[in-house]
Amino acid sequence: MKEIREDIGIEDLLNQSEALLTGHFILSSGLHSDRYVQCAKFLQYPEMADVAAKKLARMLADVKINVVIGGAFGGIVIAYELARVLHARGIFAERVDGVFQLRRGFEIRPDEKVLIAEDVITTGKSVREVMELVSSAGAEIVGVASLIDRNMPEPESLGIRAEWLHSVKANSYDPSECPLCREGKTPAVKPGSRGVSQK
Ligand code: ZN
Repeated sequence: MKEIREDIGIEDLLNQSEALLTGHFILSSGLHSDRYVQCAKFLQYPEMADVAAKKLARMLADVKINVVIGGAFGGIVIAYELARVLHARGIFAERVDGVFQLRRGFEIRPDEKVLIAEDVITTGKSVREVMELVSSAGAEIVGVASLIDRNMPEPESLGIRAEWLHSVKANSYDPSECPLCREGKTPAVKPGSRGVSQK
């Protein structure tokens, strides 16, 4: 891959890496949607992750950050890249019986300032779960940084500072009421499954 100039728009990079798809998709929830976001397609290119991390770090230049934490799996790579740029520690939380925990010797001390990193914020559910984990350690949450905000109705409702690089407005439909199904031009596909064209 050619070297990526830092002044290139994040939307261009998301499209170039095919992380943002437009079409007719079946989401993991079973709903149908006209947009699909797969940040791993973007983050597989370290040069792109680096550009994103630098942009987010600039937005957070006014705060001191000791630790960047991502929820597994989506938040791991961007948390690590942000930590590199911010000269902080980069750690991740993983689910044990459905609940986020710190494992592998990762720790958050009560005197630390913690940034939560996400690849995409949709409902904010996993951000809230990581917030609980950080709060239970007694540390201060300085905010959440995300590559993408996907239809999060009110990021302010998280009650913490939220920064993101790109907003995706996607429509989701119950399959029985899906207008894309009704048009019948393209069958609904599950991205990531074999045989799906990403173009
Ligand atoms: Zn449909």
